[in-house]
Amino acid sequence: LIRKEISDQQYQTWFKPILLLKITSSTISLQVPTKFFYEWLEDHYLELIDNTIKKVLGKKTKIEYVVSNVIEEEAKSVNPTNKINIEEKNTTKFDNLNRNYRFKNFIPGKCNSVARAAGKRICKNPGDNPFNPLMVFGGVGLGKTHLIQSIGNKVSKNNQKSVYYVTSEKFANQFIDSLKENKLKDFTKFYVNIDCLIIDDVQFFSGKSGTQDVFFHIFNHLHQNGKQVVLTSDKAPVDMQEIEQRLLSRFKWGLSAELQNPSFETRVSILKNKLYRDGVEIEDDVIEFVAKNINSNVRELEGAIISLIAQSSFNKAEITVELAKEVINKFVKNNRREVSIDYIQKVVSDYFQMDIQTLQSKTRKRHIVQARQIAMYFAKKFTKASLASIGTQIGRRDHATVLHACKTVDNLSFTDKQFRKYVEDLNQKLSN
Ligand code: ADP
Ligand code: MG
Repeated sequence: LIRKEISDQQYQTWFKPILLLKITSSTISLQVPTKFFYEWLEDHYLELIDNTIKKVLGKKTKIEYVVSNVIEEEAKSVNPTNKINIEEKNTTKFDNLNRNYRFKNFIPGKCNSVARAAGKRICKNPGDNPFNPLMVFGGVGLGKTHLIQSIGNKVSKNNQKSVYYVTSEKFANQFIDSLKENKLKDFTKFYVNIDCLIIDDVQFFSGKSGTQDVFFHIFNHLHQNGKQVVLTSDKAPVDMQEIEQRLLSRFKWGLSAELQNPSFETRVSILKNKLYRDGVEIEDDVIEFVAKNINSNVRELEGAIISLIAQSSFNKAEITVELAKEVINKFVKNNRREVSIDYIQKVVSDYFQMDIQTLQSKTRKRHIVQARQIAMYFAKKFTKASLASIGTQIGRRDHATVLHACKTVDNLSFTDKQFRKYVEDLNQKLSN
């Protein structure tokens, strides 16, 4: 049944290697090759597995995972010692924190040194430190959620403080529900009583003025009362759009710390640490190969190594550089994400050493106009966005302006050698 719901590749990678050990009236025991595997299933297929089992057995049944690498024939005689009970593992306390995100498994590097140090400092005296609020920003998969949850877990462990972690999306939904149910007072009361409030991905507040308004008041209340606020966002406060000025200015009261792409050495450490914790042994040259070839972000790095382990356990093949080459090539191809218009604007404005506001401004200065046109050209080339939507996002222009920009870039690349070099350089940067 599951096979019908997912792609063949997903099935081959994640379901074929599962071994059914035992079904009792209350429990199903499944053998999976590694802890990665189990976590992956839990993250991506939990609902599908649960529902399918319910369909087949007619009732909800507990799943027990046994992590073991032994092959089929031996499996039946294995004494399952390495059990992980999904229900147990899913229990988060009221604070919403995931207990797996800790400082001890957050690998330090130059890419995160400021944010990590500030986070640790906060844990000593939440609310009473120079980093209130702490705003951690950076691209996807660079460890924002991991870091702020580590702060939450540590504050909760070391202090008699109430901690609450929430995504800004959930916060916005709770707010809207409270309006519908006439419970706005309860909503605000709940939030102003928290000692350490952690809100993830506040860029999601963009354009939501009601939510921004209520957050503004909660923030002020907390801050005035010496409570700690920790936030994350996918971009720096100066680059945020459609967030009220008064909120932006508060975001800057404490510290904004960027998470950057980890260096090769840090990527190797992250991989080694993860493998060590999961009890998987892989040769250094394979690890280095993966670290060298996956340099986009940590999530992809983990995804690649999981894929590799899954392939090797499925094919019962040793993890060699050869296998890594094969798997990583496939992985990179399948995961090449569409770049965002935000990202294009950032790369283009960095390249021409201007900030994004300048790129978007109304000025007619030639080099700025050209940079903007190039950004539009790449937005057309690398995203599926419509001309109109590109125009709105790059300085509120209309679709005709974008069309004109694309033509101009085409023409100039043909006639102007220097200009062509710009376009080629940027093309290279954006295709990486
Ligand atoms: P973001 O919230 O920035 O998108 P996450 O916090 O979800 O990123 O991190 C993505 C994955 O990478 C997580 O599994 C996280 O544990 C891991 N990760 C990120 N940075 C580190 C690090 N410095 N050390 C160890 N693991 C990391
Ligand atoms: Mg996150």
